[in-house]
This record gives sequence, C-alpha cells and structure tokens, in this order.
Amino acid sequence: MNKANVISVPPSMEGVDRLDLYKNSSWPVETRVENLLKQMTQEEKLGQLNQLYPGENEDEAAKYLPLMRRGGVSSYIWPYINPALRNQFQRVAVQESRLGIPIIFGQDIIHGAYTLFPITLGLACSFDPELLERAQTVAARESRAEGIDWVFAPMCDLARDPRWGRVAETCGEDPYLSALCNAAQVRGFQGTNPAAPDRVASCLKHYVGYSAVTGGRDYNDSEITEWTLRNMHLPAFHAGVKAGALSIMSSFNSVEGIPAVANHHTLTEVLRGEWKFNGFVVSDWDAVTEMIPWGYARDNADAARLAISAGNDMDMKSEAYASHLAQEVKSERLSQATVDEAVRRVLRVKFQAGLFDRPYVDESGFKSAQMKPADLALARECVAKSTVLLKNTGILPLSKELKKVALIGPLGDDHSEILGCWKGRCTWSDMTLATGLKEALPRDTVLTVVKGCSINTSASMMTLQDGSVVPDENAQPTDADLKIDAAVLAAQDADVVIMAVGEPKGWTGENGSRAFLTLTGHQQALFDAVAAVGKPVVTIVFSGRPLALPEVWDNSAAVFYAWQPGIGAGQGLADLLVGNVAPSARLSMSVPRDVAQVPIFYNYPNTGRPGSGQYRDMASTDAKFWFGYGLTYTMFDYSPVRIIPAAKGKPAEAVVTLTNTGKREGVEVVQLYIGQLACHEGVRPKQELRGFKHVKLQPGERTDVCFPLSVEVLGYIDRKGNARVDAGEYQVWVAPRSHYGTPVKFVN
Ligand code: BGC
Repeated sequence: MNKANVISVPPSMEGVDRLDLYKNSSWPVETRVENLLKQMTQEEKLGQLNQLYPGENEDEAAKYLPLMRRGGVSSYIWPYINPALRNQFQRVAVQESRLGIPIIFGQDIIHGAYTLFPITLGLACSFDPELLERAQTVAARESRAEGIDWVFAPMCDLARDPRWGRVAETCGEDPYLSALCNAAQVRGFQGTNPAAPDRVASCLKHYVGYSAVTGGRDYNDSEITEWTLRNMHLPAFHAGVKAGALSIMSSFNSVEGIPAVANHHTLTEVLRGEWKFNGFVVSDWDAVTEMIPWGYARDNADAARLAISAGNDMDMKSEAYASHLAQEVKSERLSQATVDEAVRRVLRVKFQAGLFDRPYVDESGFKSAQMKPADLALARECVAKSTVLLKNTGILPLSKELKKVALIGPLGDDHSEILGCWKGRCTWSDMTLATGLKEALPRDTVLTVVKGCSINTSASMMTLQDGSVVPDENAQPTDADLKIDAAVLAAQDADVVIMAVGEPKGWTGENGSRAFLTLTGHQQALFDAVAAVGKPVVTIVFSGRPLALPEVWDNSAAVFYAWQPGIGAGQGLADLLVGNVAPSARLSMSVPRDVAQVPIFYNYPNTGRPGSGQYRDMASTDAKFWFGYGLTYTMFDYSPVRIIPAAKGKPAEAVVTLTNTGKREGVEVVQLYIGQLACHEGVRPKQELRGFKHVKLQPGERTDVCFPLSVEVLGYIDRKGNARVDAGEYQVWVAPRSHYGTPVKFVN
C-alpha cells in the first residue's frame, strides 16, 4: 500500500462524534454533513438556505457582516468579483462564525467569464457537445480563479418561441441536442471533481417550463402537458443531473397554475423521487416572494413554507426563508425534517465543491488564469463553428482578387454588442469584425468601414415611467450615426459589400422579449439602400434569436447567422469569409418566415390532417430555415437510406452513403430523425432528432454513415417518467436537416 492510499483511509469510526470532524476532509461527505448538521442551531440552519445579494458596492455588502458572523449567510450572488474582498468576507464566515461554514459565491457565467464565447444558442449550432465542454472548461477556470465557486449555468430550457429573449441562453429547440450540449457544459464546469481549483459547481436552470411562457413574454405562465414536459422540457435537465450537476434553479414561471418554485411534482416527485438528485435547488431571484403577486401565496411566510415544502432548498435574494421559516416550524406548519433535509443538500454541495477544504482563492495569481492564448484561439474556433451559413450564391468564400470591400452596418466595428446578453466579466472586445477582416484580407484589398446607422436610435425610443425604454411609434426617428448616403457611396465603390446588422444585446436575454423579429433602428432602411446599389451583399446577422428578415434572405448574395459571437468574432468570422475555415454549423433553432408563425419548432406533433391548417394569408407554414439547416462551401449527396436488420445482439442500423460532390474538403453534419407511426401513449412529433455525426470528406470522397436504431433512439418517456419503446412502425430519415429527404419505414 502506498502512502497516498494510507492518507485516503478515513479515521476510525470512534471519532464520529468529534465536534470538528466535518472539518476533516478524510471523512466521507455524508458523514461530514451529518456531523455538522447535528451541531447547528435553527438560525444557522436557515442561514444555509439564505442566498443574499450584497448590493451594488462593497459598503452595501459589508452590512451583512454581523449576519455572517452569526452563520446567517449561505451564499452571495456576487456581482463585482474581487478576490481580495471575497476572501475578506469568506474569512468572516470561516474564522468568525461559530461553525465556520464557508460561503458559496455564485455568479451568472453563461457563455464565458473573461474569454467570452458565442451565446449558447450559437454554440449549440456547432452540433458539437465537446466544443461546449471545452468552452465551459475555460469559463470554469477563469471563474474559480477569481473566487466564483458556483455558476448559474447551463440553461436547459428549450427554445421554441423566438420572441422570448432568453432563447439566446439555451441550446435550441431540440431536446436531444439540448440534452447532449447541457450535459457537456456540466462536464466542462465541474470536470470530474468540482472541488478542483479550476472547476466550479454548476446549476441547471430554469426548472422547468420557463421557455414556454405565453406569448414569449418573460416571467409569464406556461401551459405544458405532462406529455410535453416529459418528452420536451425535462430531458435536458435529466441529462444534466446524470452528468452530475450539483444544483438546479427553479424557474419564475407557473405551470398548470403552480409557480415552479412551489411545484412539488417537478421538484420532489420527479427530481428527487425519479432522478435521485441529491444536490440542492435554489430559487430564481425573488421567486419565492413573487408567489404573492402571482396570487399563489398569502404572504412571505406562506411563500417560504410553500417553496421549501415543495423541494426548493435555497432562497435567492428574497430572505423570506431566513425571516419566516423558524416560526413556521415552531407553529408546526412546517416540519423540522424538511428544513434539515434542505440544509443537508446545501452542505453536501459545499463539501463537494471543496469549500470547507479550500475556502480562499489565490489573490495574486488569478489574472494568470484568464484569457490564455489557447482560450482566445478556442473563442475564434467557436465562432467559426457556431456561425451558420444560410445562403451562398457562390460569392463565398471571398475571392482573393477583390480590390475593394465595404463593411457596412452598426456591428461592423462594434466592440460590445457582439458580446451578447450575458457578458460575464468581459466588457469590451479588442477585436471587431473590421479588425479581423483587415487581418485576413489580402494586403492590397482596401476595406472601407461605414457604420451607416446605430443599432438603436435613441430618438425613436422613449422611457416609460417605470424606467423601461421602448420604441416610440410616434417619434420622428433621428440617429446621430445615420449616414445612409455614405454607406451607399461606399457600396458603389466596392466590389463586394459585407453588411453587419442585427439587434441590440439589451433586447435579448432576460426580460428581452420582442414582439417583432426585425432589424432595429434604421438598419432595414440601410440594408435596402445598400442592397439597391446592386453590388453583391454578404450579410452577417448578429442576434440573440432567429430574426425574420425576408429582404435580407432575398437580396443578399450570401448570409451568415453569427448570433452574438463574443470576443472571437473578428477572427472567427473572417476565417469563414475568406475560407480559411469552411462553415459547418447547423441551426439549433428554426428561423421563421414571419413572427406570425411563432411559436415554431421542427418537432411539432403529427395531426389528423397533415399539411392542412395552413394560414390563408401566408404562402407556407414552414419555417424559412428549419432546425438543422446550414450550408458549407462544398456539396454533399445522400444516397437513399438503407436499413440493416438487427443481428447477433446488435440493433438494426440506418445507413446512407455520403459523397462530397463539390470541389472543396468539407464537414457535413449528418442527422438522424425518427418518427413513430402509431403510439398509443400519445401523439409523437412527426420528426425527432436522435443522432448526428460530423463527417469530413475530400472532394469526390464517399463513405457510409451508420446510425443504430436502438431502444434509446426510438423511445420516448411516458407520463409516469418511464423510458419506453414500442414495437411497430417508424419512419427514418438520414438527412442534412429536419424536414428534408425521403424517409424509409422501419419495423421495430
Ligand atoms: C435570472 C437567472 C439568474 C439570476 C441570478 C435571474 O433574474 O432569471 O437566470 O441566474 O437572476 O442572476
């Protein structure tokens, strides 16, 4: 036996009652939790369920010091990380409180901390879960080094309505892709040991049904059947739990009239009962007390008791637990066992995240953990792999012979809007599309950059009494940057125009719902005027959601959908434009023709009259670009699908022969879709993604691409939460995108 093994053997059981046992890392976590719990007063217990927002500055944060000394602060949701200050607060908790329970510092790190990657909706377009894992590995290291122990990510909500601003934070509309990408993010954040100094605890959010809010309006109610919940909204959370996520955040919305923070079915029956999740659940911001305006709880005490009884362990920001639960227990409306169990779950995660054993961060070394050259290279790679080529009449990649290129639009030389709705710790991108392009274009190509207009026009906005800023329909819009004439002149003088347009980052993300999926400010007028010049226009759309931009689709020679690409935008987009890298991304969310179609998603259920139910006043109910769509710089041919029957314990397989029929090397994302023809449990979607593979082929090269038609591939979840697969007929597509290609029948 070597020395390391000797050290890892726990001390003898005789020590179990020692008061400081929980401080000794050689004991198993569960023993440490029980040892500590036994010693806690009610105030200390409720303190562990209390997450505070320390306010806007250090002085405000300091007002909680006395409470910390009493063990009343479990967590800080930490807006202005500063390792020295964090350590100072941590020292108070660890050295000056009776039991020395460390604080867990949480922060929203969604698509990067310092190295800002594309928004998650974009990252998911890579159809490459490992890429998301690598990105979040960087985010974890940059966060933990600075003192963030816990990130409020990944977001497992399903994006089905582009009016909802938070689709930007999701992994798109498909539960299978979302499950894979979210599990990968958990692995990226937590690694194999969330206690490691370069890893953080992750938090799956928002549990559950938040994305189905009525009308895409944030914070609203959601109507979701158990069938849809089980098969659409829950799988990504379940995958995150299976990947080992240490915490989950309950959501703001109500489902079936019950606010998610007080939903016993989802929080306890499903999460604990069926999935055996043993981390903790934190509410969303003030969601506990928001049950009062919902009309669900009478007062803060009622709200606190309802939430904890349903299975919500920690109260984010509202302080209702800390203020009222002691009385609720005293008056026997709430059991002590319920409180103890919630405390147990929180403590367990603190132990697992290594906080008892390594409560402080290295104040001098944290900068060296940030934005390493390899991280910046990864950000660039992520942009190239997340940007979807929607149209190309042959103008791309740009010819090396071009003499003059005009880059027009408010996002062409932008340092901040491109960062996206959650900017982590990053406020500025040194590189812009303009600087990236300058670097990538041949030295003798002249690049003219014209902003043309603002992404927003202040005079066309008005501020309402509650402080919100909305478009003022009656205002005569003025725009200090409005220079459409200059843009037209630049276009006239150029061989090719690149237009960089989109929507402001502030209109995406939380509370970023939109009624219209249009370009903002004067951008449409700018686009129309420039397109009318007649030069080939390559449009790059920067946005947190799919926008419906018919003129852009029709009047551009090529279109890239770049989402909000983060700090790698300049180089990553230039790589695609000049052809250093061929596009390979696929839409993780369908792009509608018009906002009138939404909610819209490819995996809609079958109906009794397939193809009927069209709008009288719209040419097609199809999306403009369905989920899975994306072009590259070469062409691929798919043979008809062949089914190889099951044999020798191996499931049947669906096989296509894929040929690169173009002139360049390319990567094709080959996608497997299935549809069950008769399911007595409930109507299933016409198509469901159940597999994909990246296949790289040289011109003229061909290969067989095989997908197993296994139980997992064909199955669904019944209303009780059981995974099932039926005998019977299925349709199988192997195709470059959803709603494309001819299916074959397969009998299971
Ligand atoms: C958001 C969450 C976020 C939390 C903490 C809430 O308003 O809905 O996504 O994690 O604030 O910042």
